[in-house]
Amino acid sequence: MADSSTYRPPLADYAFILQELFGTDIAARATDGALTAADAEEVLAAAGDFAAQVLAPLSTAGDRIGARLEDGRVHLPEGYAEAYRMFVEAGWITAEAPESAGGDGLPGVVRAGLGEMWNAANAAFALCWLLTAGQIHALDAKASEEIRRIYLSKLVSGEWTGTMNLTEPDAGTDLGAIRTVATPRADGSWGVRGQKNFITWGDHDVAENIVHLVLARTPDAPEGAKGLSLFVVPKFLVGADGTPGERNAVSTVAVEHKLGIHGSPTCVLSYEDATGYLVGELHGGLAGMFVMMNSARVGMGFQATGIADRAAQAASEYATQRLQGRVLDRPAGAPIAEHPDVRRLLLSMSSLVFAMRALGVYAADLLDHEEGVEAALGEFFVPILKGWTTEEAIGVTSDAIQVHGGMGYIEETGVAQHYRDIRIAAIYEGTTAIQSNDLVGRKVLRNDGETAAALFARIDATVAALRGAADPVASRISERLGRALESARRATSALLGFGATRDAFAVSVPYLMLLGTLAGGWMHALAVQAVLGHGEREETDAERLTAADFYTAHHLARVHALAEAVAAGEIG
Ligand SMILES: Cc1cc2nc3c(=O)[nH]c(=O)nc-3n(C[C@H](O)[C@H](O)[C@H](O)COP(=O)(O)OP(=O)(O)OC[C@H]3O[C@@H](n4cnc5c(N)ncnc54)[C@H](O)[C@@H]3O)c2cc1C
Repeated sequence: MADSSTYRPPLADYAFILQELFGTDIAARATDGALTAADAEEVLAAAGDFAAQVLAPLSTAGDRIGARLEDGRVHLPEGYAEAYRMFVEAGWITAEAPESAGGDGLPGVVRAGLGEMWNAANAAFALCWLLTAGQIHALDAKASEEIRRIYLSKLVSGEWTGTMNLTEPDAGTDLGAIRTVATPRADGSWGVRGQKNFITWGDHDVAENIVHLVLARTPDAPEGAKGLSLFVVPKFLVGADGTPGERNAVSTVAVEHKLGIHGSPTCVLSYEDATGYLVGELHGGLAGMFVMMNSARVGMGFQATGIADRAAQAASEYATQRLQGRVLDRPAGAPIAEHPDVRRLLLSMSSLVFAMRALGVYAADLLDHEEGVEAALGEFFVPILKGWTTEEAIGVTSDAIQVHGGMGYIEETGVAQHYRDIRIAAIYEGTTAIQSNDLVGRKVLRNDGETAAALFARIDATVAALRGAADPVASRISERLGRALESARRATSALLGFGATRDAFAVSVPYLMLLGTLAGGWMHALAVQAVLGHGEREETDAERLTAADFYTAHHLARVHALAEAVAAGEIG
């Protein structure tokens, strides 16, 4: 049986996506030629080695032993602190931080690949990176010079890690219900009191200090979300020279026992007049936190792709080794991978993973733009990437168990861990419903469907480019994508007709899934277009055509059913 800790970084796919999928070298386009696709591939290859050799072998121990609270201190399984030290020394945190924050400023198209690989290798470990990276973006956008000098620099170097503190026992989705209070002190600092729940990497022993980014309410602040302000609260108080000293008044009350990601310490933190410092404007906390949340939501897309790919890899490996029964129209001794239905499951998984991966790179590239249609499309794709990939990844990991049969349900194969680990991804950083409310409310209804129409026009261009192609796969993909686009336009008109009513929000999740599925089909159509451009067929071309054919027949076809659901509005 394959070793469950084995991970094969998808370097060939990234090379194809970066060089060919979008008809140009997108790394070079994103960096005005400073970094080519070939350079990006070298970065990804080095990351892939690190992920496969250092992070992946720790994932099973992280799952089985998990993070533990003992004598008031949180401990991680053996090897995690060392892996974190190596991660920092290899410069991976600095590499991804923006140049404005003192990092190397790798473009989104490369960060997408890195994010996927860290998560595929060890999702629980990757959460530490994901939150630190998100906090770097928030502090870079909002923090004062003093906070940048003391905190941001230590986060960018990787010496300290970051957390995101929104949730409280009575404030989950509804941030307006947050009760943690910050009271001003004479020296300009704030005293923070309250309890925060479910704080990812909220306490640990792998770095010198932890910077908590906390949403709290100041005295006399307006009610609801408009009264929230943002504070940095360090685990250890920091001297003027940036050295950590005494312990701040933040204690770890518990480490949660949970379904998956056991290697990630999910903490209940108690703030007992802890010293904090205001970030950005008073009562402007939500805008600052949104910078971190947006970064984390995109990161969830990479987490979903990574975990899904890891599960699909395990399933494909198992299916080529397991013999069971005579396979129809195949010689004796053919493995289960050749049974038509197992082949269906394998193609379903791999074609979804490609669609998620390509869409992740596309969205990350859009998000590097600050204005215009590209920037608007980038914002449009944040909830789609987060919501659609995480929901699909749950299905992919479930299919991976199915391919393993009974052994999939037995922990020893390792595939059950992926199923357990991914389940949270559709819940944290805003549930799928919250993503779809954002998509429908802010990004479709508020601009009368203008951004959706811009996306549809781009997809239309691909449909036209493939229409009537001599290659039969290309021509049927054009036809299927064209019909899916019609359904998507019909669903969008229905939604615009509903306006901001219960009808629209009752079908916002089907609408989000429709757009994600459609965009995935578009990514496959672009792949077909790139393959048709090859003078001589390459080894992987046939696989790409089969994946696109399968995706558009089995997954893209769901768009029509989803459009029916959208048009129905609220039932009852
Ligand atoms: C392992 C783990 C790690 C986490 N890490 C962090 C972290 O680092 N920092 C942090 O601050 N939080 C963290 N969280 C909290 C997480 O973000 C919340 O659990 C999540 O936002 C949902 O909030 P809730 O659990 O209170 O559910 P609720 O808000 O009670 O939601 C319950 C259900 O109601 C639905 N619902 C609620 N409001 C609406 C609405 N307006 N429209 C439609 N449906 C709605 C939800 O979609 C969901 O299905 C973590 C949670 C877990 C389990």
